[in-house]
Amino acid sequence: MSDKTRILIKGGTVVLGHEISQKDVFIQDEKIADVGDLSNIKDVHKIDARGLLVLPGAVDTHVHFNDYFMNTVSVHDFYKGTTSAAYGGVTSIVDFANQEHGDSLVNAFRNKKSEAEGEAIIDWGVHPVITQFTPEVLDEIPIVVEEGAPTIKCYMTYREAGLMMEYEDLLHIAERLKQSNGMLMLHAEDNAIIETNIPRMIAEGKTQPIYHARSRPVGAENKAIQSAIRIAQQTGGRIFIVHMASGDGMEAMSKARAGGADILAETCTHYLVFTDKMLERDDGIKWICSPPLRDQKTQNLLWAGIKDGRIAMVTSDDAAFSWNAKLFGADRFDKCPNGIPGVETRFSLLYSEGVAQGKISLPRFVELVSTSPADLFGLAPQKGSLFPGGDADIVLFDPKTKWTMSQESLHMATDWSAYEDIEIIGKILKVFSRGELIIDEDLCLAKKGRGKYIHRSLKTG
Ligand SMILES: [Zn+2]
Repeated sequence: MSDKTRILIKGGTVVLGHEISQKDVFIQDEKIADVGDLSNIKDVHKIDARGLLVLPGAVDTHVHFNDYFMNTVSVHDFYKGTTSAAYGGVTSIVDFANQEHGDSLVNAFRNKKSEAEGEAIIDWGVHPVITQFTPEVLDEIPIVVEEGAPTIKCYMTYREAGLMMEYEDLLHIAERLKQSNGMLMLHAEDNAIIETNIPRMIAEGKTQPIYHARSRPVGAENKAIQSAIRIAQQTGGRIFIVHMASGDGMEAMSKARAGGADILAETCTHYLVFTDKMLERDDGIKWICSPPLRDQKTQNLLWAGIKDGRIAMVTSDDAAFSWNAKLFGADRFDKCPNGIPGVETRFSLLYSEGVAQGKISLPRFVELVSTSPADLFGLAPQKGSLFPGGDADIVLFDPKTKWTMSQESLHMATDWSAYEDIEIIGKILKVFSRGELIIDEDLCLAKKGRGKYIHRSLKTG
């Protein structure tokens, strides 16, 4: 038996930047040692990858594991969450650590780290979330950046849940992040519009899931995006809009960017595969998330945006609540915990709906799910590509096999699924994390806790 720390993946179709070609990939000591025609390498464990795609492991910088929210907690802890991530071709995640009121940001960050340690099976990082603005919190920003968490998130809504930051506070946070070489991530929905709409709709008896979407119209998102643009312009800091679900917002943002504002955005899988029609179903609570699902026209615009680069990347916004918790919203949409599980489905859905349907190219797919999240969130060059020197985080993917996505064919810890009977083209066969085979078809071979903390730092300039 050859040494399993030296692996040669032979003859697969390798995506390296914009180039697609048949190559061998040589893994040694957890790293990608070489890529090319490597038939001369001896004493290796060989894997035949002819007919398969060899892709960098996906990077999902937007997941909510162990997240306490709307009277419940997500069922994806770091073990279950990272296991389903790995089945879905994800080899790095970055999770959110919400500051508790009265507590420090550094504590939130360190607590999150201790939740993940000994549990996660893939590598992971942390985004601190500021929920209470104080002068002390501002001074903690350089500390968490120094400890490898340079991307801090704030909410422009969820005032009643104790998450919202005021505009003036966001300016201070953005400035301090700029000085510390960090980036401010914003959940952009205007609180005043939503907070007026919800009680009015409930009073009028408009309690069904579709009113979740109507209470948080695209105009509320656009208004908050305008504020986010002003923050970028006023401070010169980098702003990243999470889960963008607005065509007009995307337009405004790319105009501001062309005018010199340092502002970027992601969208999420569910906005690309579902529309607000799902909220009209009897089981519409499954698709309650924020921002809400939009109409077909918006979905088409988002596809155009991910294709041409106005939207930098796609994440899952995995927020996996139990069916019992989702049922809090059975009679009132505003009681339903907002979120859709999706850490496992993003890679397959985006390949199948995007690449297989001819909407995006294969290299663009790799950028959207791996390279751009790794670059923009400070995981590169260790993560996000197959260039030699990086971690051997690799997906072997059969682009032809068809399968049906459903509760049974997935591994997420939820006892329900938003993804039922979706025909998928392309199947993940093997997943390597730092050179170790962790997923082999239906088997997860990873030891609990093998995942490591990713100390991130953003590129300057
Ligand atoms: Zn989120």
